[in-house]
Amino acid sequence: MTASHRRGFLQRLAGLPLVGAWAGRGAAAKAPDYLASLGVRPIINGAGVYTMFTASLMWPEVVEAIQQLSTRFVRISELHDAVGKRIAQMLNVEAAMVPSGAAAALTVGTAACITGADPDKIQRIPDLTGMKNEVIVQRTHRFPYDHMVRNCGIRLVEVETREQLERAIGPQTAMLLFLNKSEPLGQVKMKEFVEIGKRRGIPTFNDAAADVPPLENLTRPIQLGFDLIAVSGGKGIRGPQSAGLLLGRADLIHAARLNTSPYSDTIGRSCKVNKEELVGMMVAVEKFLKQDFAALEREWERRARSMIDALRGVPTLRAERFVPVIANQVPHVRLTWEEARLGLTPAQLMQQLRDGEPSIELVPSPPKGTVEISTWMLQPGEAEMVARRIREIFGARKG
Ligand SMILES: *Cc1c(COP(=O)(O)O)cnc(C)c1O
Repeated sequence: MTASHRRGFLQRLAGLPLVGAWAGRGAAAKAPDYLASLGVRPIINGAGVYTMFTASLMWPEVVEAIQQLSTRFVRISELHDAVGKRIAQMLNVEAAMVPSGAAAALTVGTAACITGADPDKIQRIPDLTGMKNEVIVQRTHRFPYDHMVRNCGIRLVEVETREQLERAIGPQTAMLLFLNKSEPLGQVKMKEFVEIGKRRGIPTFNDAAADVPPLENLTRPIQLGFDLIAVSGGKGIRGPQSAGLLLGRADLIHAARLNTSPYSDTIGRSCKVNKEELVGMMVAVEKFLKQDFAALEREWERRARSMIDALRGVPTLRAERFVPVIANQVPHVRLTWEEARLGLTPAQLMQQLRDGEPSIELVPSPPKGTVEISTWMLQPGEAEMVARRIREIFGARKG
């Protein structure tokens, strides 16, 4: 950089709001308000644990762990081993590892079922010439994230009945895939699915990414004998967003580790986690297991009730409590109204909330034409704020 270049650079830097915009007040506030300087508005997350809204907030203890680790160098494989062992103990499973999310767990777990610990196969995947190249799934268990399974080069074979499942199994079958939240939709339930896998010697893999709390949703598939389970780290467990859990059989977890970073010539090299995510995830699991679930539940119920009470006076709107069956199994409020009479579609309501101040994100609810408010990612005072904004919007439209 020449002197004049440097001067120009410094002048441009000085012109950026980043330097002037300081977050908060008082001596503790040192960092600039990065969001303000970037012109990115923070949102009230009434949607739930969605990646597009950055899912959940990390426990403060997780942030402390990340900070602590950020000042040290380690041998990453040694840390991977130690963290995996500790998480396996805490969750009472044979083995565990921390991949960069439940999606990454699907890729490295599938790779493990295909390659085992064979270095030649690990290098060649997703070219599966001469290897097992099929994964069987119930048609009702297909989901967007099965792309992470298909990343390994396998073909998904869809079945519906138990007989079709048994018949589809052959020497080419690498794995049986199950989507935890779709159990009610499929003919073959967990117990039977696991029994078939065990009898036929094919590993079973259950994606339970978004299904805790309640804690039983995590421990149940493990106890039923699934060989692998994928869980999101950054949803209900409140670990780093770019971390997750792969739990299960020790030989498969070992093979999954060989299929990812720090090994460069692998399918999972792009699913890297560093020391911060590893230890952060471990701390999150510990906090998650120790939390007072009953107290949390009471607080979520209180938020739902306060919103329903606040919206009761709006004659054109019905607000009612519901709890999803599996996945995000926490109190929600569903909003229903006469779209034609009010001239307001769900998309328009969501857009108005998004455009307002503060900016609020909600998502459509399963029955078409309704919108839901999820209570569990709301921060103190936000349930009241959300209800107030909705009241204002409906109040302005006397249907
Ligand atoms: C969220 C989710 C994933 C992806 O989890 P990440 O931790 O974001 O990678 C995978 N499967 C299901 C069913 C999910 O809900």
